[in-house]
Amino acid sequence: MTKVRSSDGSMIDDRRGRGGGGRGGGFPGLGGGGGLPFPMKAGGGLLGLIVVIAAVVLPQLLGSGGTSSTLSSGDVTQDADAADGACSSEQEQVLCGATVDVQTYWQSALPEFFDTEYQVTQTVFFSGATSTGCGQASSQTGPFYCPLDNLVYFDLDFLVALEQQLIGKSTDLAQQYIVAHEYGHHVQNVLGTNAQVQQAQQNRPDLANQYSVALELQADCYAGVWVGDIAQRGLLESSSEIDEALAAAEGVGDDRIQQKTQGRIDPESWTHGSSQQRQDWFMRGFNTMDPTRCNTFDEVL
Ligand SMILES: [Zn+2]
Repeated sequence: MTKVRSSDGSMIDDRRGRGGGGRGGGFPGLGGGGGLPFPMKAGGGLLGLIVVIAAVVLPQLLGSGGTSSTLSSGDVTQDADAADGACSSEQEQVLCGATVDVQTYWQSALPEFFDTEYQVTQTVFFSGATSTGCGQASSQTGPFYCPLDNLVYFDLDFLVALEQQLIGKSTDLAQQYIVAHEYGHHVQNVLGTNAQVQQAQQNRPDLANQYSVALELQADCYAGVWVGDIAQRGLLESSSEIDEALAAAEGVGDDRIQQKTQGRIDPESWTHGSSQQRQDWFMRGFNTMDPTRCNTFDEVL
């Protein structure tokens, strides 16, 4: 159990129990054309699992359809009603703790390492369905980051089910690794990496998957940097707790998922990287605690 917990709901947009409509209103960075739909299908089983994993690669799925969004503090909305109860349960406090801590970390690390100011955003808790800047998220949607509204989305119940399916269990640090991975995508958005990758994928469609893998492994590395930071601050129960994050990184490797869902491994179609790559880059971040060393684009491409 990590000590990274918070009952502070100021960085949470709690949409649970509000039906599928979301909070209403437009999403920043989107024109009048509406969102980009998820290629989602209801239904569980293996198909459901594949769809879920695809949802995590949102920046890649967006492809040329995405436009880089305007980040502004106006994106962050305080919701006093939701804040009260959003971070009460054990699991909520774990996710709220990671949301607060990882953003606090990047608020000092981004200026320090990249001479760039971090833009605080929010984690959306939803159940069932919700509208996002990237289209409608359903109950079969895994955790994801939408670069068009700059928000991180979690269906809490589904997160646990997903981890149990992929990793065999759901632990604090496994969940927090996923939070930190999604915020890694937000960091990439703030730094303009997402936009650069989209451009590169348009220029070299033959390398589109490799670019996606590099983007995902960099988010893993950023997550590792943050976990290294909380470890240094003494917020892990023990050093062996890191195994929980490594198990999570292993469980969501493309080879592992393909083996489970298709019974065969096809590296050409990978978008996130192998179990080994995901663990290696996580550990690169953890050991160096230096996000400038997360140079996956130099090494994967
Ligand atoms: Zn990702």
